[in-house]
Amino acid sequence: KLKKKDEEEAVRRSNALEKNELDTLRKVSRQEYLKKREQKKLEEIRDDIEDEQYLFDGVKLTEAEYRELRYKKEIYELVKKRSEDVEDTNEYRMPEAYDEEGGVNQEKRFSVALQRYRDGSAGDKMNPFAEQEAWEDHQIQKATLKYGSKNKKQISDDYQFVFEDQIEFIKATVVEGDKFDDELATESLDESNAKSALEKLQEDRKTLPIYPYREELLKAINDHQVIIIVGETGSGKTTQIPQYLHEAGYTKHGKVGCTQPRRVAAMSVAARVSQEMGVKLGHEVGYSIRFEDCTSDKTVLKYMTDGMLLREFLGEPDLAGYSVVMVDEAHERTLSTDILFGLVKDIARFRPDLKLLISSATLDAEKFSDYFDSAPIFKIPGRRFPVEIHYTKAPEADYLDAAVVTVLQIHVTQPPGDILIFLTGQEEIETAEEIMRHRTRGLGTKIAELIICPIYANLPTELQAKIFEPTPEGARKVVLATNIAETSLTIDGIKYVIDPGFCKMKSYNPRTGMESLLVTPISKASAMQRAGRSGRTGPGKCFRLYTAYNYLHDLEDNTIPEIQRTNLANVVLTLKSLGIHDLINFDFMDPPPSEALLKALELLFALSALNKLDEIISIAAMLSVGNSIFYRPKDKQVHADNARMNFHTGNVGDHIALLKVYSSWKETNYSTQWCYENYIQVRSMKRARDVRDQLEGLLERVEIELSSNPNDLDAIKKSITSGFFPHSARLQKNGSYKTVKHSQTVHIHPSSGLSQVLPRWVIYHELVLTTKEYMRQVTELKPDWLVEIAPHYYQMKD
Ligand code: ADP
Ligand code: MG
Repeated sequence: KLKKKDEEEAVRRSNALEKNELDTLRKVSRQEYLKKREQKKLEEIRDDIEDEQYLFDGVKLTEAEYRELRYKKEIYELVKKRSEDVEDTNEYRMPEAYDEEGGVNQEKRFSVALQRYRDGSAGDKMNPFAEQEAWEDHQIQKATLKYGSKNKKQISDDYQFVFEDQIEFIKATVVEGDKFDDELATESLDESNAKSALEKLQEDRKTLPIYPYREELLKAINDHQVIIIVGETGSGKTTQIPQYLHEAGYTKHGKVGCTQPRRVAAMSVAARVSQEMGVKLGHEVGYSIRFEDCTSDKTVLKYMTDGMLLREFLGEPDLAGYSVVMVDEAHERTLSTDILFGLVKDIARFRPDLKLLISSATLDAEKFSDYFDSAPIFKIPGRRFPVEIHYTKAPEADYLDAAVVTVLQIHVTQPPGDILIFLTGQEEIETAEEIMRHRTRGLGTKIAELIICPIYANLPTELQAKIFEPTPEGARKVVLATNIAETSLTIDGIKYVIDPGFCKMKSYNPRTGMESLLVTPISKASAMQRAGRSGRTGPGKCFRLYTAYNYLHDLEDNTIPEIQRTNLANVVLTLKSLGIHDLINFDFMDPPPSEALLKALELLFALSALNKLDEIISIAAMLSVGNSIFYRPKDKQVHADNARMNFHTGNVGDHIALLKVYSSWKETNYSTQWCYENYIQVRSMKRARDVRDQLEGLLERVEIELSSNPNDLDAIKKSITSGFFPHSARLQKNGSYKTVKHSQTVHIHPSSGLSQVLPRWVIYHELVLTTKEYMRQVTELKPDWLVEIAPHYYQMKD
């Protein structure tokens, strides 16, 4: 029997406890949310079951008979009701019989249908309420014809008229706008005639809020080495300042580098600036993100992720190629940005010719100024219109659904202006898009055109550009975005913002050692930023899908810097990889507790069993692309599952299965066709190959030679164990597992090749919390390995 050693006392003693509580709080709110969701699903299922009994007025029928009868009855009731209504009020009403008699709530039916559709159990032809939809459509069209000219009351009922459910909002506050010259904002908006696109762009540049401060700003930069710049999102910091510097000659003796926390922002902004300068992207203006370097010898304005600039330190510790470094979006306080602060501050001391700009939309400017030895603060006055804030009357259990309903509500009842919704990630964005398209399908000309534009990191570049295209007259654009639209990207024309109040955030629990991306409530500061996006070109409205009470009591004031919520081993590794060994004296803006740093260092030391197997880096690369290797098309799930299980022959475990996938792909000379045949995503595989190449390069750098022994599976598993020994778990009688370290109850994820095998001992790659606490990527281990590999960590009991 194994006993875990006493550990991480130091972490617990430090302020980690506080973090811990915070984490638990977050987890609780997430769990509550999941519970509510589950409940809602149950209700839906119950509804569905009632349907499946095919009872009609107490008589048992076949399904076909039942559907036909109920359909007829509904029509009968509707027609009856409608003729009464029409005579009485001369106004169309959503038929009530539909609710009472049918017992059918369109929304619930929709979710069930969507689920079926996704499961592949119902094709479009089998749409369980297609007939009804068609009929409804017809009715609505008739009504539109009849009551085409609307009176006032009708307009307010418009929404009810097209869609059924509605969310009640309470207008709570108005965030005042700034005073500014109205003419400036609208100037040159209409004079697009006979001018070339480039001329037009040059004129647009002059209308940006930063433009009047161009000379002043350049003078300040000339006079000081470090400057803190604060300006409202959209004022022109990211696109204009580097151009001003170029125009003022700063690029004669080096590049201007501008860092962004997000890949999409770096790409999109570089594209915009190259357009404004009339040059080809990648020539004078370029960008650099991981695995994609779009720059050349000509490049003088370089946009990049903060992580990429960190990487450049490796080759060029004094950043000699740069005359100016602009750390943009500094308020985001990503781990890389925080480390950059320490590095550039240091370099600035011995490179007096290097200019340093720290810029951001909202910023605790004083704090930044203090950190950078009292650097001056340059404020760019914003142009902000008043924004009305609306809260929901009651909490919304399903914010995704609430967001869609709100979009439709705005679309039907509010004056022109585009809508921006903040969602937490690609999956959510795609679901929202799907629901929205489904809901508006078949409404034809009854509602104005709704142009749905998603934006997230993995979206192809051409589609990303779509969000910036002007909205045609009469239509309305809905932008579904992640946090990226909070401050990094500005989309003109947004008048309505829908803020569900969540974002995806990395969080780390020092007790379990679990680092996860959790859907987490945003901070008040983020909520204000989001609201502000609606008031850029005119007065705006922000619909918060939470209550005013939630806002006041449940949201933190500010987002916690990543360094405070990450596994410190990351910080240690990053610094070490940059050749910085004196961790304790590194100049952090918010230093992590030194005890915790030491502890992290110790842990890494414990992990020191460096494996140098060729196979291990393939596995590491495959693990790094996450869970997007295999796919299951709806109509070929059995084939896909069979193909996947081929790699699991002999119950080798998920790590080895991933290795087999990679090796087989390599054997086919990285064939795309092979991927198709095996239901494997080519894109993910290519990414894994990139990561693998990078790892190989890094190992070469530190002169570690690769050795290979593909047939000794035990040796490979042992290596994995040596890297992940704190992640071991033991089978319990009831089929669940208990982690050795913290006796946490966990389960093997259903996607694992071992989910039916249930070995006595396993090692897992990560824990994920969905409906249960799951172990993902699992391999069987022999318990004596643990004692052999990590005797300082585990010891035999008796
Ligand atoms: P800031 O960095 O201060 O938030 P930006 O320099 O990013 O401001 O944006 C200034 C203006 O440039 C925005 O208001 C927007 O109108 C325009 N803009 C920025 N990026 C793009 C783009 N990719 N496509 C079209 N317009 C853009
Ligand atoms: Mg910006």
